[in-house]
Amino acid sequence: MNIVLLGPPGSGKGTQGDILSAATGTPRVSTGELLREAMDKRTPLGRKAQEYYDKGMLVPDKIILELIEGVLRSSVADNGVIMDGFPRTVAQAEAVDGVLRERGSEISAALSFEAPAEVLTQRLLGRAAEEDRSDDNIDSIRRRLQVFEEQTKSLISYYEEEGLLRRIDAVGSIEEVSQRVEQALNS
Ligand code: AMP
Repeated sequence: MNIVLLGPPGSGKGTQGDILSAATGTPRVSTGELLREAMDKRTPLGRKAQEYYDKGMLVPDKIILELIEGVLRSSVADNGVIMDGFPRTVAQAEAVDGVLRERGSEISAALSFEAPAEVLTQRLLGRAAEEDRSDDNIDSIRRRLQVFEEQTKSLISYYEEEGLLRRIDAVGSIEEVSQRVEQALNS
């Protein structure tokens, strides 16, 4: 089961990805986390990604594909993965489809987590206070919401055309949203 989690920053897709992963035993792979790890270790890939990350811009597709293609070809993905934070562009989506196809696999569903911009901004500012992320400041938050609108939202129609899209109302408690996820995957 390969599931794509789509949604703007602050939509709760990471939290829901963890819950879904625990419930199904399917590993969750997050490009944001892999990037933070690479940047902390100051690997060559991490250094290349850092300036884009800090500005709240998308890291170039080439770097992201370097990061995820290996994971998708590895045994981690043997029984599918929950993709959190990728694909974020149509080029990434096509590359992911290609790697999965090579393995005789495909995307099972794309969950689109949807919430109004004010809710997202408040959640991200709250998270900035709790976590020490270099991209959780107001300028970067605005930029990341804008980047989602301009560059990632088109993936909603990409997966809709494939009949894989499930829209999830992401306003509510963690439990409420996770029930909606469960219903969406069973429908
Ligand atoms: P996230 O933790 O998913 O919110 O990602 C944090 C930041 O990492 C984003 O603002 C981007 O700079 C970068 N990033 C994560 N995943 C991707 C991706 N698939 N494509 C491009 N940039 C990404």
